[in-house]
Amino acid sequence: MKVLVIGTGAREHALCRSLSQDPAVGELHCAPGNAGIARLATLHPVDQLDGAAVTALAVELGADLVVIGPEAPLVAGVAEPLRAAGIPVFGPGKEAAQLEGSKAFAKDVMAGAGVPTARSYVCTTAAEAAEALDAFGAPYVVKDDGLAAGKGVVVTEDRAAALAHAAACDRVVIEEYLDGPEVSLFAITDGTTVLPLVPAQDFKRALDGDLGPNTGGMGAYTPLPWAPEGLVEEVLETVLQPTVDELRRRGTPFSGLLYAGLALTSRGTRVIEFNARFGDPETQVVLARLRTPLAGVLLAAANGTLGELEPLRWSEEAAVTVVLASEGYPADPRTGDPIEGLDAAEADGTAFVLHAGTRAGGDGEVLTAGGRVLSVTATGADLAEARAKAYAGVARISFKGAQHRTDIALKAAQ
Ligand code: AMP
Repeated sequence: MKVLVIGTGAREHALCRSLSQDPAVGELHCAPGNAGIARLATLHPVDQLDGAAVTALAVELGADLVVIGPEAPLVAGVAEPLRAAGIPVFGPGKEAAQLEGSKAFAKDVMAGAGVPTARSYVCTTAAEAAEALDAFGAPYVVKDDGLAAGKGVVVTEDRAAALAHAAACDRVVIEEYLDGPEVSLFAITDGTTVLPLVPAQDFKRALDGDLGPNTGGMGAYTPLPWAPEGLVEEVLETVLQPTVDELRRRGTPFSGLLYAGLALTSRGTRVIEFNARFGDPETQVVLARLRTPLAGVLLAAANGTLGELEPLRWSEEAAVTVVLASEGYPADPRTGDPIEGLDAAEADGTAFVLHAGTRAGGDGEVLTAGGRVLSVTATGADLAEARAKAYAGVARISFKGAQHRTDIALKAAQ
């Protein structure tokens, strides 16, 4: 198979890593990619939001499968021209991707499907926002309705800050605060059949102890030894399958990766958000445990034949990933600094390094090129071992102003 992956992050590097290990994959391409992906795939400097350009590339390569990694090209409708050209695509079309592209649309689908989620109001004026905030009380949860790269949500005790965020966005969803631990559960679907993957947990805040601003994600781990038994079956039955069925019923079938961000509250499991693609950084740890070759699974989702697939096989090992971010992330990341120690981090099989915001400099140098720079990942017999190996990898890498959390998977490993 010839596979083309669209995107630039550590999620796409993880996808490329798994695809490159699948014996069915003969050629791997990525557009636009990054300095790490360049070691596994042929890179193409194509604008990932330009559906015509991506389709032209896929046709020229004779791609048997295109995997769209990030939300932006999905919401921009890059899947449509590919499908129109007869190329199998992993990822939903523009309308189904609204499940992630609009929080208000997601709430409407959940209401139609009877999926448990936080009560909410959609607000467009300051007066509506104030009324909704007072209806729920503190802590306040205010979400930009549109795509915001994981940074559009403000959770705060400060009413003025909540109002200010609402005022800064055109349209917001204000909802009740959900207590309890969070779980990310991914499912691969062809629009009818739904195959859940293993649950993971990510760390959204920038600083240790879940302090600081929300980010795209600073680390993740799987499995979740503390999660209730039967969680995956429950979420499949009450969340994932009803959502996929509802979208099909509406005439906008969803195929690709359905990501449920869940809160396990004292009153039961609730959906915090849906995403329409693999989550970053959870993908790095989930794929590290997947033993079934990836390309066949993604192709079956694209072709509508998931129901014929054997059950997925998983390693019993644990996996941990720690994100190395640049100075100033998330507000104002600094870029262009040389990264040292990339090979050392992978020496003796300790960890593997997935690149996010990197680019090739001269003389084989790798430079920082974004907020989240690297995702250092390791597996081990248990979370404690995977964690120790991931942090051993982190300790070998340096670049100016590098920052990371030191408590990824710490509580779960104890
Ligand atoms: P989202 O982009 O919707 O995943 O929100 C980002 C983060 O904000 C989530 O991972 C939660 O930590 C937090 N959050 C979102 N919605 C709620 C809520 N209703 N109650 C509590 N925390 C929330």
